Amino acid sequence: SFTIAIIGRPNVGKSTLFNRLVGQKLALVDDEPGVTRDRREGQARLGDLDFTVIDTAGLDEGPRGSLTARMQEQTEAAIAAADALMFVFDARAGLTPTDRSFADFARRADKPVVLVANKSEGRHGDAGALESYALGLGDPVGVSAEHGEGMGDLYDALRSVMPEPAEEVDEEEIVEPDMSRPIRVAIVGRPNAGKSTVINYLLSEERLLTSPEAGTTRDSISVELNWKGRDFRIFDTAGLRRRSRIEAKLEKLSVADTLRAVRFAEVVVLMTDAQNRFEEQDLRIADLIEREGRALVIAVNKWDLMKGGSARIASLRNDVDHWLPQVRGAPVVAISGLTGEGIDGLMTAIQTAYAVWNRRVATALLNRWFQQAVAASPPPAVSGRRLKLNYATQTKARPPSFVVFCSRADAVPESYLRYLVNSLRETFDLAGTPIRITLREKA
Ligand code: GDP
Repeated sequence: SFTIAIIGRPNVGKSTLFNRLVGQKLALVDDEPGVTRDRREGQARLGDLDFTVIDTAGLDEGPRGSLTARMQEQTEAAIAAADALMFVFDARAGLTPTDRSFADFARRADKPVVLVANKSEGRHGDAGALESYALGLGDPVGVSAEHGEGMGDLYDALRSVMPEPAEEVDEEEIVEPDMSRPIRVAIVGRPNAGKSTVINYLLSEERLLTSPEAGTTRDSISVELNWKGRDFRIFDTAGLRRRSRIEAKLEKLSVADTLRAVRFAEVVVLMTDAQNRFEEQDLRIADLIEREGRALVIAVNKWDLMKGGSARIASLRNDVDHWLPQVRGAPVVAISGLTGEGIDGLMTAIQTAYAVWNRRVATALLNRWFQQAVAASPPPAVSGRRLKLNYATQTKARPPSFVVFCSRADAVPESYLRYLVNSLRETFDLAGTPIRITLREKA
């Protein structure tokens, strides 16, 4: 679970705060010999927020006014184990040099910090709270751990550094992709790219089942097939088109038909003809797939007609990356619906794209990436003021979607978001899936 370490010098009220957050459910861990319970962990609950809290109290026996090596180690270990920190100081006593040393730890940790001005009952902490702005850890939250005051403000502050509470996350999306369920696939592309040929090849090759099945609407027809042990349900664009022809309608799939196919699918195969260059119509379809948030695989069909293929694939990949930066790195697979060459590779690419589309990045890894990406290329300042990006969290998968907390959402340029998306894509191998980042202002 999300873990928050309570840090700060002795006697500022860390344990009292810990006890208030954890209540009866206090659990002692780390009580192996030698570690002597100087690190307590418990499950905390505040409003609808659930998290693990680490207390670093219990080390008050060092020489007064100095940071013993052991206390430093202790604090560093707790910080390393945490996703976010609560830095606690005594607002009545004001800041001491020891507070400042602990604040340095907090700042260096590059993790979200909630600055807690404890012992603020009544207005006793006002002066100390004001003084604490100098720590550069943001706005102080005035609380009284002992009297339970200020817990609403603490809730707001913690909430802003934590992932969304469970009910806002689509529960279904947290579950690992169910591999027993067929992957829903649509094959789209310009007329004569070879979509029907490839679907027919798949159906004639797979020896298991070939039962066309009526979908929910009249035109929405899909076929289920098993390829090397994995089930796929394929939107039958071919059947659709045949019917259109019979009805003397358009020769090609209309935009509405393509949209229906894309919405049906989890993974969309954009089929192109190896003899043609990547064109505006292909781009439009790829863009549609991206906007609908589907995983994308690009298939280059009629490969049997091509010579000098690898150069062609490289140039196509360049075209894709150049024209479709939003799906940079999407897999490009050469196939022939006529000979069956490359079809296995296509089915593998579909499964990989599906897995990537379902991926969840662990919060700790995500934030390590986030801190590095922001440090490597900080966001531009807005009218002289530094734009602060605090924290990132993945809110859902299918496609991977993230929220970045920042000081001013409207001040983050599009180009900076693109930088973050590309960096995420590279760091976590998220090729072939759209990636969504939304900004939220830290409360
Ligand atoms: P669709 O409109 O995308 O469904 O395309 P079709 O499957 O109807 O194929 C269009 C034409 O391309 C037909 O004449 C096919 O025989 C031909 N075709 C499809 N796939 C291949 C392939 O892999 N190699 C070759 N040489 N021709 C193909």
